[in-house]
Amino acid sequence: MDIIAATKNKDKLREMREILGSMGFRVIAAAELGVTEEITEDGATFEDNAIKKARVISQRTGAMALADDSGIEIDYLGKKPGVRSSRFLGEKTDYAVKNKKILDIMRDAEENERTARYVCVMAAASPRGEILLSRGEIEGVISREPRGTGGFGYDPIFLLPEKGATFGEMADEEKNRISHRRKALDGMAGKLVSRK
Ligand code: IMP
Repeated sequence: MDIIAATKNKDKLREMREILGSMGFRVIAAAELGVTEEITEDGATFEDNAIKKARVISQRTGAMALADDSGIEIDYLGKKPGVRSSRFLGEKTDYAVKNKKILDIMRDAEENERTARYVCVMAAASPRGEILLSRGEIEGVISREPRGTGGFGYDPIFLLPEKGATFGEMADEEKNRISHRRKALDGMAGKLVSRK
């Protein structure tokens, strides 16, 4: 069965192909079918945004579509930036600046106040309007200073205490084995298989 991926991100596409491909699905990027429109992520939740993107791509292509939305929830900031993670301090602002700002705000936060999690929600939409949802989360803490140059975004300040390393200090393969995105994708793969 074909699944249309509502992403332009090569890494996300590769991960989707690895996991869903091994289960007999063929993952096609929406752009390969000429669907390149930008879909505004203006929902209040990760679910809203993922469903909106999957629905639009499914309607445009007439096939099952898969979309994700993700972000970081920092408890000290009342779970912000959350769904607004890419827009925090402005979409074009360098992540070195965003991360420094977060560390400044949290200068006086104790260890037990530094908890945070990455969240990823995957939504699949069928042309008939059926929706499947899967949520993946990974818990960590905000580090005291940025560490490592791997990953992207908030990874240099997202510390996994049990690994003693930030996502920025981990090899991509290691991060991708345990990430929020991997968990959401594994869950979605299970749901798609049981629906087949
Ligand atoms: P989107 O799901 O591609 O819209 O990404 C949302 C935003 O959440 C990204 O632009 C990052 O700011 C943040 N984010 C989501 N996942 C990660 C991650 O694995 N590492 C670092 N930042 C992330």
